[in-house]
Amino acid sequence: MDFDIIFQHGTVIDGTRNQLGFVADVGVVDDRIVAVGDLSQKKGQQVIDATDRIVCPGFIDVHVHSEMSLLGGRDQHAGVIQGVTTQLLAPDGFGWTGLDPQTASQFWQYTKFAYADFPSELAAEAFNWQTPEAYLEIFAGRTPANVCPQVPHCTVRLAAMGWEDRPAAPDELTQMEQATRSWMEAGATGICLGLDYQPGANADLNELVTLCRLVQSYGGLYAAHIRYELLGRQAAWEETLEICRQAEIPVHISHERVDEVTQSVLEQVDREDLDLTFESYLYPAGMTHLAMRLPMDLQTGSPEEMIDKLKQPAAKQRAIQHLSTNLEKDLSIIGYTQSGRYIGMTLQEAAESVNQPIDEFAYNLVVEEEGVETLIMFWQIPEEKSERILNHTAVHPRMMIASDGVYEIPHPHPRGYGCFAQFGRKFVKERQLLSWEEAIWKMSGFPAERFGLKDRGQLKEGLAADIVVFDPETLADKSTWSDPLQPAVGVEHVLVNGQRVIANSAVTNQLPGRVLRRS
Ligand SMILES: [Zn+2]
Repeated sequence: MDFDIIFQHGTVIDGTRNQLGFVADVGVVDDRIVAVGDLSQKKGQQVIDATDRIVCPGFIDVHVHSEMSLLGGRDQHAGVIQGVTTQLLAPDGFGWTGLDPQTASQFWQYTKFAYADFPSELAAEAFNWQTPEAYLEIFAGRTPANVCPQVPHCTVRLAAMGWEDRPAAPDELTQMEQATRSWMEAGATGICLGLDYQPGANADLNELVTLCRLVQSYGGLYAAHIRYELLGRQAAWEETLEICRQAEIPVHISHERVDEVTQSVLEQVDREDLDLTFESYLYPAGMTHLAMRLPMDLQTGSPEEMIDKLKQPAAKQRAIQHLSTNLEKDLSIIGYTQSGRYIGMTLQEAAESVNQPIDEFAYNLVVEEEGVETLIMFWQIPEEKSERILNHTAVHPRMMIASDGVYEIPHPHPRGYGCFAQFGRKFVKERQLLSWEEAIWKMSGFPAERFGLKDRGQLKEGLAADIVVFDPETLADKSTWSDPLQPAVGVEHVLVNGQRVIANSAVTNQLPGRVLRRS
């Protein structure tokens, strides 16, 4: 037998965007792509007809809250069903490694809005991962997709100085540098931050630049949910440019878009030739916890301290006042509450159901749910304008696709099950804004190159066999605002490390995912 698997007569799009799709066969042996060309005289253990299908490298999701759901549970396959074969860990700087068990479980409580209940499979080892390696060990052979570490900034800060809302002292910064170094030694692609989340939001520019210099010395990158709430979007972008200049580090901005705010900053980036990229999931709504819309000083401290603070009468009044100007009221959908109330209702409907003004209801929700709540929040602009922004974003040369998927909560954002399929269906097929070659580059070759995954992101002889075969005619997202758990369709075969995780459009339940390291 010449090959384990041959995909026959497919249109190969190699993930580089430098070559037009061409009809060829692709041969796989073990976990490698061994041949791309005419293999009609060769024999394969499995020969799969890919006529009229696109055969391309597996997609790479660089910002996704999937690391626990990949280990089991309702949404374990939400990504691979769309062709995602590698997912990065520690989005927004979240993680639970290097903490004492009590602090780690506090941080789980804080991040529950994006991860729901702690997976029971991990109960025995929970919250006692003292080193990056101890944490990374839980993934190999237990996930359908590969995972790759990033330095979890929130966690690194939490380990060094708890929930303190002040700049780091020199010895604390030294401790953060040590933790950062241990993650970079473990092969992290770079450092990831969530500068609207506790306790990462308390980092000053000096802390960020200091840690970035270290990350840069390993060839790593700075990836951040930037400081929207404290600085506003424009200034938050400018802070990121400043980090890029001072630390001479490549920077990457999470979940962004091209509109009147970013257009001028992006022009500045071009003028200065700064090393900046960003990602987008291309939906006109975000998803996060309501606590983020409170005044920053009322968000600080551990989850318990935050709730205690919010209960003070003066704080309550100030919080409601702040929410009245800072909250998206139009159509926001409640996706998760600790108590299970109001799921799938709009904020307005839920407030009316208990006869409360909406701002007061939002405040009560945070307090009563002990901070565990998640909302889909729509952009507060007319649809025509938001679609125009999405179109501009989809074609921007510095933009790659990443889902920011949130899983396991009762009513998540449709991006988790639909992001990659939507990009193809809506922006390539229906709107014809870009070619399949460009679109696939934005989902595979571009993220692989940017995040330093040299063995992935291209369909080329010698590289790892992470391969997607899809029907460009039928590829479509099916998840919607009201029904977000519908799997995407059109992806027929997915290989991860040469193993079939999707075969004939069905999940195989194989778990060949590995831990990838920066290369
Ligand atoms: Zn984020």
